[in-house]
Amino acid sequence: MKIHPYPTNSQNWSEEDWQSLLNDLINNNLVTYKEVTSLVLGHLNPSQVGTSIASKKTFQKHFPKRKCWQAVRQWHFEQGGRCIDCGTRLELQADHIVPRQQLGDDADKLPNMTLRCRRCNVIRRPSHRKGGLTDLTAEAALMWLLFTQQPATYQEFEHLCRDYGMTMANIRFQEAWAMARWLEKEGKYYISDESKY
Ligand SMILES: [Zn+2]
Repeated sequence: MKIHPYPTNSQNWSEEDWQSLLNDLINNNLVTYKEVTSLVLGHLNPSQVGTSIASKKTFQKHFPKRKCWQAVRQWHFEQGGRCIDCGTRLELQADHIVPRQQLGDDADKLPNMTLRCRRCNVIRRPSHRKGGLTDLTAEAALMWLLFTQQPATYQEFEHLCRDYGMTMANIRFQEAWAMARWLEKEGKYYISDESKY
């Protein structure tokens, strides 16, 4: 698989670097422009942002029957349409301004709700203190490391993932390593005999 040399820290990447990586993925027949565009369009759709709120009893109890959706819809339309932390329009979720850990069910009120992307939502949790090391979601970072660094052994891949601050269990790395094995069958990835998996 022919891939350009890239800076190893994704936070230093320019838009040109990202464009180049996308073109590498497409030129190597991993994905098509249609597939990429379709994914982006799907993640632009604020699917289940409002409906997830409206379906919760903790929100419904503040409204007369059948009036909850109306209020949620108004809240939804009033939002800025971007993640309040990183500004992306992709993968938006309804999230609390003051978290539930502090307020319990009282947190579930429309004035306490805002839009945050999936990644920013996840890394706010105390269990993800290291999440901020990468500006990619964990699942994206796994593929980013695989394609841009192209480790020749599973051990090296695991090291790269840990160095990148990923705290998930090793089995998640082994699962992601399948991509290397699949591409190897097509002659697009080199795996050394030293590789554990
Ligand atoms: Zn965000």
